[in-house]
Amino acid sequence: MYLIGEEVDHQQFAIATEAGHALRPDSPVETAADALLRRYAVAETKRRLHQPVFRATVMRAYETRCAVCALRHGELLDAAHIVPDVEEQGLPVVTNGLALCKIHHAAYDTQILGIRPDNVVEIRTDLLDEVDGPMLRHGLVERHGQPLMAVPTKRSEQPSQKLLAIRYERFRAAV
Ligand SMILES: [Zn+2]
Repeated sequence: MYLIGEEVDHQQFAIATEAGHALRPDSPVETAADALLRRYAVAETKRRLHQPVFRATVMRAYETRCAVCALRHGELLDAAHIVPDVEEQGLPVVTNGLALCKIHHAAYDTQILGIRPDNVVEIRTDLLDEVDGPMLRHGLVERHGQPLMAVPTKRSEQPSQKLLAIRYERFRAAV
């Protein structure tokens, strides 16, 4: 996607797709499909623009620590969304974010790990009886029933209980 022009009067931007089609908001022959594609293009561009700001905000709030295990290495940490950013409530704001290390981010996204609205971690029950190496034991099983290890000190930056509840319900539904 390429930003090809700004239309101040309409408070919008003109965007060209990689295929080279300019999607002009003021085109007289815009079809419903064009309109849909344009809305998608604008949403996608916004999402990409917000990502670096979202990451920086989340990392600062969590002091560059994984919320689940407190790992302190930024290169191994992601700014994860509580409600995914493709959804209406999945805004790129710190209260919809968690700093998570790569393994805990993947575990959260695949419903292996859930976070209750009271900030307590749960691990999918079938993993609790599994015997494997240190990552399973220390990284996952021993986190079960434990509170988050890193949470922003400012209340206004802490994860939203409402958003955690939406996500936790999906974890419960999957186990
Ligand atoms: Zn972690």
